[in-house]
Amino acid sequence: MPQSDAVDPDATIAIVGGGQAGAEVATQLRQNRHQGRIVLFGDENVLPYMRPPLSKAYLAGEMGADGLIYKAAVAYEKANVELRLGESVVAIDRNAKKLALAGGESLAYDRLVIAAGGRARKLRVPGADLGNIFYLRSIADVEQLRPQLQSGRRLVIVGGGYVGLEFAAVAIKRGLKVLVLEAAPRVLARVTAPEVSNFYERFHRAAGVEIRTGVAVSGFSAREGSNDVGAVLCGEDPAIEADFVLVGIGLVPNMELAKGAGLAVDGGILVDEAGRTNDHEIFAIGDCAVHVRHGFLHRTVRLESVPNALEQARTVAAVLTGKPIPAATPPWFWSDQYDLKLQMVGLSEGYDELAIRGSTQSSSFIAFYLKDGYVIAADAINRPSEFMASKRLIGDRIKASARDLADEQVSLKALLAAAAA
Ligand SMILES: Cc1cc2nc3c(=O)[nH]c(=O)nc-3n(C[C@H](O)[C@H](O)[C@H](O)COP(=O)(O)OP(=O)(O)OC[C@H]3O[C@@H](n4cnc5c(N)ncnc54)[C@H](O)[C@@H]3O)c2cc1C
Repeated sequence: MPQSDAVDPDATIAIVGGGQAGAEVATQLRQNRHQGRIVLFGDENVLPYMRPPLSKAYLAGEMGADGLIYKAAVAYEKANVELRLGESVVAIDRNAKKLALAGGESLAYDRLVIAAGGRARKLRVPGADLGNIFYLRSIADVEQLRPQLQSGRRLVIVGGGYVGLEFAAVAIKRGLKVLVLEAAPRVLARVTAPEVSNFYERFHRAAGVEIRTGVAVSGFSAREGSNDVGAVLCGEDPAIEADFVLVGIGLVPNMELAKGAGLAVDGGILVDEAGRTNDHEIFAIGDCAVHVRHGFLHRTVRLESVPNALEQARTVAAVLTGKPIPAATPPWFWSDQYDLKLQMVGLSEGYDELAIRGSTQSSSFIAFYLKDGYVIAADAINRPSEFMASKRLIGDRIKASARDLADEQVSLKALLAAAAA
């Protein structure tokens, strides 16, 4: 990395976005001994928090709001990070190197990190603006949803991705009547093999969740005499009655600020392996950033995960303080549904062979995805220690046979050792 990327130690670094990516880069910069001002703007009026529990333990009431907080207020005080919560940045003036705030104030920066995350993708069909149709991205969303989670109520979930399925798992335990509608032929179709999708569909159905796949929602109708949703419409099919609806159909990256400032965007803010945008004084990290060439995957990809947000934050902090960049690692993710802990590593897209270790009829197995003999991804269900070995198989780009991977008598550590020999 050329020395010129390290910023003057007294420089002001502004960060737009108070999620985990923004919080991590702020504190990491100080840990790397940056001495100048670090100013973090977040438009949600709460300390930066972790979103994963919003559809898991926090939603289920097994975790309080304190448990969501990523770093306590004292961590920012100690690091002398200026937290500007409840403040929205509305424009970037790249020539003057200034941020404009919603309240009319401006702030001069030397370097800028955009960590603006994303927002829930809206379903654009007739009736989508009726009451009792919800999305799930923030603490505020959960607060709106909580009163709806009452036994016997009819919930329709649009979207059989992680958020939808995690929500279904919590709601069915609460005694709601839960129906998941998925437009694709199977749930989790974008991210897993049919074998893993089938496993999740079976598990949810056994718990009482109804799942209909290959169904596209065409609109909503109101309950008689009310502005609240009463039914979900799916083309010519009979209307499905609902007391409330959760829509979980993905995320739209917050890239308008970057676009307005003339930065390169294409499905997110384009960044190189150091997190730089096409303006070398502006960086982007986390859900809003597209890796033009991901350091490990060697392809263009936008990732929506906490590990990616933190890795990019640490990379940018290292770049700005002239420290070595941490090595890029395979992306990974997790999902908790019922007592199933799914941990996924790598990207399975384009796999040409699948090996299942253990049985999909049990609740503990791993699906390995291979391409040209290399292990490129793994989905581990309730196998935390083998997941760690799987991460290494993928991170070290190990060749392995599908037969060995599927054979429980062959330890994954032995495969790693054999490859290292
Ligand atoms: C329900 C749910 C469950 C999830 N589960 C998992 C999981 O199990 N595992 C996992 O790895 N990931 C999970 N994720 C994804 C993970 O939470 C995100 O990848 C991560 O939060 C990204 O962090 P971020 O800082 O990039 O963005 P965000 O967390 O979106 O933070 C960005 C912040 O910037 C603010 N902002 C935007 N624009 C401005 C502006 N102009 N001025 C000021 N502030 C601004 C936003 O309001 C937001 O507060 C889940 C996400 C959700 C919603």
